[in-house]
Amino acid sequence: KEEMNMIQGALELRSKTVEDIMTPLEDCFMIRSDAVLDFNTMSEIIESGYTRIPVYEGEQSNIVDILLVQDLAFVDPDDCTTLKTITRFYKHPVHFVFHDIKLDSMLEEFKKGKSHLAIVQKVNSDGEGDPFYEVLGLVTLEDVFEEIIKSE
Ligand code: ATP
Ligand code: ATP
Repeated sequence: KEEMNMIQGALELRSKTVEDIMTPLEDCFMIRSDAVLDFNTMSEIIESGYTRIPVYEGEQSNIVDILLVQDLAFVDPDDCTTLKTITRFYKHPVHFVFHDIKLDSMLEEFKKGKSHLAIVQKVNSDGEGDPFYEVLGLVTLEDVFEEIIKSE
């Protein structure tokens, strides 16, 4: 029975998209690019329990960096280091993917790349103005694995 579920899950990798399984933007734990790494901010990050934290500038859909929790290892909260100092030092590239890519392709990308988190975006051409990239959420390797394992 479990084997059947896993085979089913694996087959669905070809039909489901990252948008189907992502963590939507409103549920993402993120941090402002102008944050100061004082005791409170560092505690919040650590208590979130997440390893990879998108950094946004201005509005939440404008993701400019990724902070890894291990980047904080040598930060002393008493120094009130700015987040920018840290992100400029590590410069982890932000990996963007389109909302409609299928999970099998996403899995391949995760296998090839260094990062196990991608920011999901789409081109929004609704309305009068010019089309723009809209961030919908984030997806990790873990989400794809869950999809394979989960029983239905
Ligand atoms: P790791 O297990 O590698 O330490 P993690 O626990 O931070 O990483 P994952 O295991 O990759 O995160 O993902 C677990 C779930 O949390 C997934 O559903 C993923 O979409 C979600 N997730 C990951 N990072 C964030 C974040 N910054 N904010 C909200 N949800 C997140
Ligand atoms: P997992 O517990 O999911 O197997 P992992 O440690 O293998 O996690 P990541 O934490 O995603 O995978 O990253 C592996 C390496 O790639 C780390 O050394 C990190 O510096 C780098 N890295 C992580 N996230 C990113 C990212 N978003 N962009 C660029 N590099 C990253």
